[in-house]
Amino acid sequence: MDFEYSPQVQERRQRLQEFVDRYVLPYNGAWHHSVAQGVFPPPFMEDLKALARSEGLWNLFLPGLREDEPGERLTNLEYAPLAEIMGRLPWASEVFNCSAPDTGNMELLHLFATPEQNQRWLRPLLEGEIRSAFAMSEPDVASSDPTNLQTRMRREGGALVLSGRKWFVTGAAHPNCKLLIVMCRSGDDETARHARHSMLLVPTDAPGVTLERNIAIMQHHTPEGHCEIVFREVRVPAGNLLGQEGAGFAMAQARLGPGRVHHCMRTIGQCELALSLMCERTLERHLFGKYLADFANVQEWIAESRLEIDQARLLVLRAAWRLDQGQLERARADVAAIKVVTARLQTRVVNRAMQVFGAMGLSPDTPLAYFWTWGRALQLLDGPDEVHLRSVARAELAQAREKRGATAAYFTLPEQLRAAPRIR
Ligand SMILES: Cc1cc2nc3c(=O)[nH]c(=O)nc-3n(C[C@H](O)[C@H](O)[C@H](O)COP(=O)(O)OP(=O)(O)OC[C@H]3O[C@@H](n4cnc5c(N)ncnc54)[C@H](O)[C@@H]3O)c2cc1C
Repeated sequence: MDFEYSPQVQERRQRLQEFVDRYVLPYNGAWHHSVAQGVFPPPFMEDLKALARSEGLWNLFLPGLREDEPGERLTNLEYAPLAEIMGRLPWASEVFNCSAPDTGNMELLHLFATPEQNQRWLRPLLEGEIRSAFAMSEPDVASSDPTNLQTRMRREGGALVLSGRKWFVTGAAHPNCKLLIVMCRSGDDETARHARHSMLLVPTDAPGVTLERNIAIMQHHTPEGHCEIVFREVRVPAGNLLGQEGAGFAMAQARLGPGRVHHCMRTIGQCELALSLMCERTLERHLFGKYLADFANVQEWIAESRLEIDQARLLVLRAAWRLDQGQLERARADVAAIKVVTARLQTRVVNRAMQVFGAMGLSPDTPLAYFWTWGRALQLLDGPDEVHLRSVARAELAQAREKRGATAAYFTLPEQLRAAPRIR
C-alpha cells in the first residue's frame, strides 16, 4: 500500500495549485463584487475557463471519457486530490468545468444517454457551454425515501407530460442552466416500488417550467441557487426519457458514487483552509499575556482538527480507489460513510476556527461562516446522515450474517473454562 500520490498526480496537483494561485484567486474579490452587483456569472469567467482548458485543466473528473470527448480521463483516485484544491474556493470548480451537480449529471448522461441526447446535452456540458441541475426532492413528501416522489410523468401520443413540484434544485438559477434531469413517477401502484420512477430530460425553457424561488440556505443565497420549481403539464418528446422507463433508482445509484467523492474532497479542502486560517490567527492574536496558540485548549482544537481531517481524507481516497477497482459493493458502504464523516468534519473543524476568530468568524469577512453553513447543509443534501448510516449498518450486518458464529471462540463461558484443554 503506497500512501504517496503518484508522480503524475503530484505534477497535476502542482499545476492546478499554481493555476489557482496565479489566475483564479486574484479574481476572488471581483467574483464576490460582481455577484453582489447581480452580475452572475462574472464577465471574466469565460476567459478563465478558456485558459484552464488550454492548460489541460478541463473535465478532470470523468474517467470513462471517449476519445472524441474533451478532458483528462483521470481516475476517481487521481481526481480526488484535485477536487480538494478546487474546494478551497467554492466558485473555482466552474473554471475547470468540474462543478456539482454537472459532474454527476455528465456521469449519468455518459452512462445512459442515447446518441441524440448525447449530442443535445452531454456535448455542450462537456464543452462548458451550458450548466444543468438534478431535480429530485419535493416539498410534499419525505424525499429521503425517493419511492415517495410524486411528480408524475404520463405518455400522451408521442409526448411525455410532466406535472409536479420540486425544491432545493441546486444550480437551477444559473443563467447557463439549460437542462433539468427530473426524477419522476412513471409507474402505477401495481409496479414494484423501486421500478416506479424514471428520469426525464427537461429543457429549462420548456413551456410550463416555472422557477418559483431561490431558497436561502440558512440566510445565505447562492447565485446559482437551490430552487423551487413547478412543472405544469410540461410536454417533452418521448426521446427525452433517459435510460429505461422505471430505471430511475438504478440510474440514481450510478450517479451518486463519484459525485460524493468529489463533494467530500471539496469539503476536505475547505477544512484544510479553515485549519490554516485558525493556526495563523492563533499565532497573531495576543491576549492575557500570551498568544492564542499558547493556550492548551486551542492547541487541542488544532490537533483534533488535523487528526480528523487526515482520517477523513484516507477514507475518501479509499472510497475513490474502490470505485476505480470496480469493487462496487464495498465502495457503496464507503461512499455512504464518507458523506457522514466529512459533513461532521466540516461543522466541527470550521466551528473551532470560528471560535478562534471570535466575532469575526461569524461575519462574511472570512469564508468560515459560509463553510460552516455548507457543512450543515451536507448533513442533508444527497440524503440525510441517517440514511447513509443505515446503509453502513446494513453492510456491516450483512457481513455478520454471512460469518454468523465466527465470534463464538472469543467467548469464555463457564462450561468452556471447565473444559479447558490441557497444555501438557
Ligand atoms: C443545500 C441543499 C442542496 C440540495 N440540493 C438538492 C438538489 O440539487 N436536488 C434535489 O433533488 N435535492 C436537493 N436537496 C434536498 C435534499 O436531497 C433533501 O433535503 C434530503 O434528501 C432530505 O429530504 P427531505 O428534506 O424531504 O427530508 P425528509 O425526508 O422529510 O427527512 C427528515 C428527517 O428525517 C430523518 N430521517 C430520514 N430518513 C431516515 C432514516 N432512514 N432513519 C432515521 N431517520 C431518518 C432525518 O433526520 C431527516 O433529516 C438539497 C438540500 C440542501 C439543504
